[in-house]
Amino acid sequence: MSSDSFQPAEGATSASTEERGRATGESESALETARRQLARAAAHLEIDESIVDRLEHPTRVLEVTVPVRRDDGSVDVFTGYRAQHDSVRGPYKGGLRYHPAVTRDECVGLSMWMTWKCAVMDLPFGGAKGGVVVDPKSLSGEEKERLTRRFAQEIRDSIGPTKDIPAPDMGTDPQTMAWLMDAYSMQEGETIPGVVTGKPPTIGGSYGREEAPGRSVAIVTREICSYDDRPLEDTTVAVQGFGSVGANAARLLEEWGATVVAVSDVNGAIYDPDGVDVASIPSHDEEPEAVTRYVTEGHADAAGLERLSNDDLLELDVDVLIPAAVGNVITEDNADDIRADIVVEGANGPTTFAADAILDERGVQVVPDIIANAGGVTVSYFEWLQDINRRKWSEKRVNEELESEMLEAWNAVVREVERRDVTWRDAAYVVALSRVAEAHEMRGLWP
Ligand code: NAD
Repeated sequence: MSSDSFQPAEGATSASTEERGRATGESESALETARRQLARAAAHLEIDESIVDRLEHPTRVLEVTVPVRRDDGSVDVFTGYRAQHDSVRGPYKGGLRYHPAVTRDECVGLSMWMTWKCAVMDLPFGGAKGGVVVDPKSLSGEEKERLTRRFAQEIRDSIGPTKDIPAPDMGTDPQTMAWLMDAYSMQEGETIPGVVTGKPPTIGGSYGREEAPGRSVAIVTREICSYDDRPLEDTTVAVQGFGSVGANAARLLEEWGATVVAVSDVNGAIYDPDGVDVASIPSHDEEPEAVTRYVTEGHADAAGLERLSNDDLLELDVDVLIPAAVGNVITEDNADDIRADIVVEGANGPTTFAADAILDERGVQVVPDIIANAGGVTVSYFEWLQDINRRKWSEKRVNEELESEMLEAWNAVVREVERRDVTWRDAAYVVALSRVAEAHEMRGLWP
């Protein structure tokens, strides 16, 4: 899965907003949360009211109809969206998801998050998000390819390497991006790899893209521990979700000296106060739901491991908690029971607005998703640069440049925390909004 990319989740087209929120884990009120966060950040800055008003809305939302021939010869018709929030700093950038709970508003809310994520990383991109209302598990490979090619055709005028660059998200993957890039290129009459990111490396994808969000989570965890004078060797970590984000973050942190005491998959968690050997457990991509099977199948290294629920994992007495599975897992119902000193948001939106206030009151530091997992979109930016310049970077170069981009972004956030005495989340949004607002001020709104 990636911001760019993730796995299919279940849901229903007729689901209520709350049900949809649970289904995608991010949509409970993505738009409402995004607008509240914008207002909070704006309150710290002197920004022209009209710019804030403008940023409460997307530039445009494209809604398209996508007919798809099923393998049995019948035709089903799906609805797709592409929300483009803001492009004042560069082309729109953001994922495309295939999920039954995709809505217009969800795409708009998530496109706003992408604007802030790109801005806090100082990438020359704005925010977008899109998707098709479909359960990807109900599609054969051929049907998914036909859906992708027809969707690409419907949104073709709105995307392009200098306009809007999609990437994988829930229910879409590097193969989906390859089809999209091929369909777009066929119509343009030339190969244009820079129209999407998150492609397989053989057709212009970047090395290091897959592990980038987990790597950035590990980097900011290391940095906040260092900020707090907490040596990684003395730091215990619990990680919810052992996928692209969770497994890569856990493995790097262990490599750098931290003790990862608990990890989980959708079926539950495993816990060992002396440390779980995270390198020996397959990640979700390598073998889905292997964390819990690791114990039930009695692996040699599994002796001494305790089984916990995902809820218990969140409440462990650890130094750092990394929710890296789905959104809305830290809520006002359990925020008082979180015993970690630091929460690093690996997933998108794991902490609800209400829970955030409770954690803040209790002195729990929360490093927000828009910087923590931004390694994904940052390496997408590197991929785009490689595509445009037709020159591949080594994995070593990708990781070195990611490290330096992350440190620059982190230091900008630290400066705001110290200058304004605000939370890490508010500081990250202040950095992002001030960059976007400044660009709007320079360019003018052209009302
Ligand atoms: P993934 O599918 O690779 O792994 C998800 C993991 O979470 C699996 O181990 C799965 O078993 C577990 N899981 C699923 N539902 C769960 C639940 N309800 N409770 C506990 N565990 C559950 O996913 P990923 O790519 O690692 O993404 C995880 C989160 O990070 C998502 O919120 C995603 O939006 C966000 N994210 C991903 C990327 C990326 O590029 N992969 C980038 C930015 C943000």
